Amino acid sequence: MGDPSGFLKHTSRELPVRRPVPLRLLDWNEVYEEFSSDTLKTQASRCMDCGIPFCHNGCPLGNLIPEWNDLVYKDRWHDGIERLHATNNFPEFTGRLCPAPCEASCVLGINQDPVTIKQVEVELIDRAFDEGWVKPVHPTRSTGKKVAVVGSGPAGLAAAQQLTRAGHMVTVFERADRIGGLLRYGIPEFKMEKRHIDRRLDQMNSEGTVFKTGVNVGVDITADALREQFDAVVLAGGATEARDLPIPGRELDGIHQAMEFLPIANRVQLGDLEEPTITAEGKKVVIIGGGDTGADCLGTSHRQGAESVHQFEIMPRPPETRAEHTPWPTYPLMYRVASAHEEGGERLFSVNTERFVGADGKVTALKAHEVEMKSGRFEKVEGSDFELEADLVLLAMGFVGPEKPGLLTDLGVDLNERGNVARSAKWATNVDGVFVAGDMGRGQSLIVWAIAEGRSAAAAVDAYLEGESALPSPIATTTAPQR
Ligand SMILES: Cc1cc2nc3c(=O)[nH]c(=O)nc-3n(C[C@H](O)[C@H](O)[C@H](O)COP(=O)(O)OP(=O)(O)OC[C@H]3O[C@@H](n4cnc5c(N)ncnc54)[C@H](O)[C@@H]3O)c2cc1C
Ligand code: SF4
Repeated sequence: MGDPSGFLKHTSRELPVRRPVPLRLLDWNEVYEEFSSDTLKTQASRCMDCGIPFCHNGCPLGNLIPEWNDLVYKDRWHDGIERLHATNNFPEFTGRLCPAPCEASCVLGINQDPVTIKQVEVELIDRAFDEGWVKPVHPTRSTGKKVAVVGSGPAGLAAAQQLTRAGHMVTVFERADRIGGLLRYGIPEFKMEKRHIDRRLDQMNSEGTVFKTGVNVGVDITADALREQFDAVVLAGGATEARDLPIPGRELDGIHQAMEFLPIANRVQLGDLEEPTITAEGKKVVIIGGGDTGADCLGTSHRQGAESVHQFEIMPRPPETRAEHTPWPTYPLMYRVASAHEEGGERLFSVNTERFVGADGKVTALKAHEVEMKSGRFEKVEGSDFELEADLVLLAMGFVGPEKPGLLTDLGVDLNERGNVARSAKWATNVDGVFVAGDMGRGQSLIVWAIAEGRSAAAAVDAYLEGESALPSPIATTTAPQR
């Protein structure tokens, strides 16, 4: 290690400062201030040569965290990005958006604040782009084999980049008009500016990956044609079927799924629309769902000028510190304050919505009550009923899995008991030559898992086509979910 006693000298963990709330609500840019490279080096020096770096395990990609912490501390940024790119195709996405399970498993975190791993990751890749170090990596040979990747979220992009670099001819099909999946149209600009996707796509285009947007596979090209035209197929279509709330009044106007609301706001930022066609401006907004998607709706509503915003969560408020049943090195259940929560609004926990109330076909309020968990079931707290005015309700209750009609039924792929595409330990479906990666097989998850699965599926596809593969597979086949 560059400084074996760094963690003793620098006991406090530092993170970038978020811009003042009134200022950041005036724009859609990312919320963080710049982080100086001197501070970053000091933070990196807290990585303490712990012997068994549990962070490797905490990170689904197996990122070589202590190595690049050390290289940053020694000012060897170019070597640092090489080590980071060895395990992660897109650190600019994870460095901004990952919930950082690595930090939860950092050995220093047992009795001090953990190393700011995620910040080192994002600073490394941002510096690499600024310095012009992120160059196309051209394949050294061509196999002549053709691979189709369906879906251009992080799983599809990671699989495509790995397979292109292995010498295959890769075409990514995306039904939307732009590449990126949820990175593009789900996640708001204030969490990740879309320019980060575009500059990575420049690299992928130069490497030879072919992108076809506006192609709904299963409709614009049949499942049979896809299998005929390509030697292998990677399904990376995500878990796009949103969970609904089928309670009385659901048919009223003004009640929308989060993924009806967020893409429109993103399209305004992309210059496709002058004004959002669903907007929180001047409205009393209620968001049902207390997770990340709900927080994205919250930040978006405030930037659009909502009159008030309430966010409902059916689960109880988590503890302020690590819950006992999630000890180190597991990812802790605890109360978290995302940047959007700092910006206003009221968070209500242990709340169940009973019905929507409306007038003239439009939602005007909702009726709800408190719940408590008894023997593993939610039960109503008698006498806790309340009514809350609302003229925009956003449903952010997660996703139940991939859409079945069309591509998946036409291909005849088996589903698992959770309704996701079933896969073997080698990322294969029951249909010969058809593989799956990301949320489509895993169910609603995280970007870091999507990239890890995309890389692992690429190694499996390469082995299927060539008999063996030198591509890395971060998720061991023995621990992959079984078909
Ligand atoms: C609002 C929101 C915010 C989130 N924030 C975070 C976060 O901060 N951090 C984090 O780690 N995770 C976050 N997630 C989760 C994360 O975005 C997903 O886990 C991840 O994007 C999954 O990647 P994927 O490649 O499997 O699928 P997706 O990103 O869903 O991409 C799938 C793509 O496939 C395309 N597609 C589907 N079917 C077809 C077809 N038949 N033909 C052609 N194209 C098709 C879809 O249009 C889509 O573009 C968030 C999710 C949401 C909804
Ligand atoms: S990808 Fe996520 S878990 Fe892995 S090092 Fe980066 S922040 Fe940590």
